[in-house]
Amino acid sequence: MRMSCNGCRVLRKGCSADCSIDPCLKWIKNPQSQANATLFLAKFYGRAGLINLVNAAPPHSRTVWLLPRPLGH
Ligand SMILES: [Zn+2]
Repeated sequence: MRMSCNGCRVLRKGCSADCSIDPCLKWIKNPQSQANATLFLAKFYGRAGLINLVNAAPPHSRTVWLLPRPLGH
């Protein structure tokens, strides 16, 4: 089994080869920052809201992670 990406790990959701969150986090170099960014957005949108948003966004879109940029990251 593949290890969950940092986004899925934080959201405690299943991660797959075609995970839509993983590519969104690729631009963040530090795994801890990836987790923090996901955590921030999960608080901002709610866990389900964030997952919906990511699924609705075009593949490999960074937009979701760029809009409400977590301060200090
Ligand atoms: Zn994932």
